[in-house]
Amino acid sequence: MEDLPLPGVLGRICPHGCEDACRRAEMDEPLAIRDLKRLAADRVDPREIVVPCAPRRPETVAIVGSGPAGLSCAYQLARRGILSTIYEAQPKAGGMLRVGIPAHRLPREVLDREIEVITNLGVDIKTDTALGRDITIDGLFTAGFKAVYLALGAHKGIELGIPGERADGVRQGVDFLREVNLSGMTWVGCRVAIIGGGNVAIDVSRAAVRLGAEAVSIIYRRTRIEMPAWEEEIRAAEAEGVKITYLAAPQEVLAREGRVQGLRCIRMDLTEPDSSGRRRPVPIPGSEFEVACDQLIPAIGQRPDLSALEEVTGLSFSRYGTAEADAVTYATGRPGVFAGGDLLTGPWVAIGAVAAGKEAAESIQRYIDGRDMAAGREPIKNEHPRYRPVPRSEPRRPRAQMPELPVAQRQGNFREVELGYDDAAGRGEAGRCINCGYCCECLQCVEACLAKAVVHDQKPVEREIPVGSVILCPGSSPFDPAVIENVYPYRKCPNVVTSL
Ligand SMILES: Cc1cc2nc3c(=O)[nH]c(=O)nc-3n(C[C@H](O)[C@H](O)[C@H](O)COP(=O)(O)OP(=O)(O)OC[C@H]3O[C@@H](n4cnc5c(N)ncnc54)[C@H](O)[C@@H]3O)c2cc1C
Ligand code: SF4
Ligand code: SF4
Repeated sequence: MEDLPLPGVLGRICPHGCEDACRRAEMDEPLAIRDLKRLAADRVDPREIVVPCAPRRPETVAIVGSGPAGLSCAYQLARRGILSTIYEAQPKAGGMLRVGIPAHRLPREVLDREIEVITNLGVDIKTDTALGRDITIDGLFTAGFKAVYLALGAHKGIELGIPGERADGVRQGVDFLREVNLSGMTWVGCRVAIIGGGNVAIDVSRAAVRLGAEAVSIIYRRTRIEMPAWEEEIRAAEAEGVKITYLAAPQEVLAREGRVQGLRCIRMDLTEPDSSGRRRPVPIPGSEFEVACDQLIPAIGQRPDLSALEEVTGLSFSRYGTAEADAVTYATGRPGVFAGGDLLTGPWVAIGAVAAGKEAAESIQRYIDGRDMAAGREPIKNEHPRYRPVPRSEPRRPRAQMPELPVAQRQGNFREVELGYDDAAGRGEAGRCINCGYCCECLQCVEACLAKAVVHDQKPVEREIPVGSVILCPGSSPFDPAVIENVYPYRKCPNVVTSL
């Protein structure tokens, strides 16, 4: 919980970049790190965990946006003794975790519980309160807040830019999902066509199936290989009946009496890879075709809505329509105003927003204390990481399968599809870990050492120390230093011995 205020949420929806680095993949498949973390998170009620916080300080901070960036910043500030008020435009807190990701991937009780952990620390969330409409940055400073954190996300759907897009029955994917997620329902057509290849397109398609659409299709201009949506999500959508047309792009919305009734598309081809390795989609002349639909949902991307920020003195914006801030401190050009999450990066992932919120909290505390905000925060480069070798004797074992709600039971409801490991499956999966790192950074050693001798964020310093012998005391399990002979010349030097 120290770094991650939303463990059950991220245990479900994180794209698990950590698994790409798992060295078990050299043998068979990476460890299911995210699913194991979910199992651990689901075994406790996070509201019962005591979160250690520094003594309460008099300063307060205003946060705009209650997505993972805003929530994470509020949580980390509270742990530092600084309370905040989060202002949220929507009627409920959670950002895209609430209004973007459908409940079949993230049950609302999980999200609610973990937001409650944060409000239990004294964080106040004021919903239905929008920056620009109900509050201003100047007003927040006048009200006494010492700093403002902007975490407005990226909620404006990008238009297709084709004729007929204003017809009735055309609706942005994020707007469609927002209504479903806040009210549990929205109008859905019989034949729904969705444009795009990312997770938003997949979420829209799976929501449309659940709401009763008879035929749901996704039109994507590249091939499946280039599709940015996650493979497991694509497979789940297909299993639920969603059809995907690859290498096709929309050209014109076909409408009758102002209402969408179809879409004219054109087939695409991919060019040879350019210098960056990317293959550009190009239309094939004369390959136009029509798709019948009574609802068209573009889901080709989002950008931040900057209307509440454009007039604010000191803020600057990139040519991609995102806010700008210092890459290390997240400070904007206006003193005391910080920004992070999708507002800065454009649409990204929840764990990126959580990390940004944590870094902003560190900066905000230093700003309030009048300390240097950047000092000592250069990323630690580990150019020569050391790992235990992957043992050749380890038998191959497939990764534990995630149990799922049967497809036949998914129609007409938003029940969670991935059901989570039971204890036995979790134990089996955890047993696949070959424990190949030297430190899992659980920081228990920092907690345990009463002399505070373990300084975890200490930077490496190289020193040569003449010694008569080296005694290795690496813990309770027998350790064979011969496997890293280059580090401890155990075979070569008779005075290198183990504690055993
Ligand atoms: C459909 C969909 C599915 C996704 N699936 C995943 C996934 O599976 N895994 C993953 O890691 N990421 C996923 N993402 C991305 C992830 O949700 C975002 O990267 C993340 O939520 C960004 O966090 P944030 O705090 O920066 O912004 P947001 O979560 O967008 O939160 C911003 C908040 O600010 C509020 N706000 C905006 N303007 C104002 C204003 N003027 N005044 C007050 N409040 C305002 C918004 O209402 C919102 O609540 C998905 C995104 C979408 C759209
Ligand atoms: S320690 Fe376990 S989880 Fe981490 S990289 Fe090695 S096998 Fe994967
Ligand atoms: S939050 Fe971190 S550890 Fe957890 S699944 Fe995501 S990347 Fe992996």
